[in-house]
Amino acid sequence: MPQVSSRLDGFTESVIRKMTRVANEYGAINLSQGFPDFDPPKELVEALKKAADEGPHQYEITWGSQGLREVLAKKQSKFMGLDIDPNKEIVVTCGSTEAMMAAMMSVCEPGEKVIVFSPFYENYVADTILCGAEPIYVPLYPPEFNFNREELIRAFEQKPKALILCNPSNPTGKVFTREELEFIANLAIEYDAFVITDEVYEHIVMKPYEHVYFAALPGMFERTISCSSLSKTYSITGWRLGYIIAPEHIINNAKKVHDFLTVGAAAPLQAAAISGFNLPEEYYESLRELYTEKRDLFIKGLDEAGLKYTVPQGAYYIMVDISEFIQDTSLTDNEFCEWLAKEVGVAAVPGSSFFKEEVNHLIRFHFAKKTETLLAALERLKSLREKASRGIIMS
Ligand code: GLN
Repeated sequence: MPQVSSRLDGFTESVIRKMTRVANEYGAINLSQGFPDFDPPKELVEALKKAADEGPHQYEITWGSQGLREVLAKKQSKFMGLDIDPNKEIVVTCGSTEAMMAAMMSVCEPGEKVIVFSPFYENYVADTILCGAEPIYVPLYPPEFNFNREELIRAFEQKPKALILCNPSNPTGKVFTREELEFIANLAIEYDAFVITDEVYEHIVMKPYEHVYFAALPGMFERTISCSSLSKTYSITGWRLGYIIAPEHIINNAKKVHDFLTVGAAAPLQAAAISGFNLPEEYYESLRELYTEKRDLFIKGLDEAGLKYTVPQGAYYIMVDISEFIQDTSLTDNEFCEWLAKEVGVAAVPGSSFFKEEVNHLIRFHFAKKTETLLAALERLKSLREKASRGIIMS
């Protein structure tokens, strides 16, 4: 028999998505894979009903319907402080997952290097390897998840083609400061590299932190491929709608990748999503408030359960330190998370799946859930210490 491709040999199943299966198996409250258990804004749901009745039901223009690209360009131009051309500088994709992959394939040649901060959202390394490039890891040091400037310079000295920037960051909740971003931007200019951003949490930033769009930094639009999605901003992770914003010559490549990979995002969903981009500016302020409340509720509960964590500045994840439960044992964070789902009834993602380095003492929860779901999870977590004291036994 012929051999299947070796390109995927080093890959395992996505640990994030595996934990959703583990949560379902044990009936645990699922705070692993990040998605809301509450409804999207009613405007989107109503628009989707209308699209079901009235169409469109056939292919849209490959790189996104005209109507969607126009409202997207209008909204992002306002928030990013740029003048984005809906016809030349946007591709609508099937989620930011496709956006990131298409961005990578649009700029990277096989054998080139790409800087990835560690911890990282697991797709980045998969994307890098699938397009034949090679990751260079630069650590973000817990608990603050800052990078060491010298280490970043050393990475750029290896002449990477691009750097991947997740801001606000999944899984750390870090919001990069303008100063940090300018430091990266100056290196990108000095070493002539692209910056591919994942900004899906652009509107989930807790005060006093502010999101700075990398492409909006002086001189950066030309070398930035901005990827984002509607999933988190409008609570529609299952609609799989994302986009790339970049200069025309990069977008021309991304259009081709997108065309041959997927033809296009679902037409009725694109039509319905227009109502999301048309929401008033207050919507984004209330989203920010909503997630600030959820974060505060969650960290209060973690305090009550006596758990240690890094306070997220943005996104909807929180890294919790499990050192005290696994020290003096040979348990891995994977085993701990399985035990947690089974015996405590709350699912988290083992932190090691996000790190290049050997890190075994962190797990990631997300708090994009209804208050009642979060309170129920926190109630269960209160029993963690007592249950762990009886011994964490893997069956
Ligand atoms: N971004 C979400 C997370 O990190 C969901 C990822 C996914 O499964 N597509 O949990």
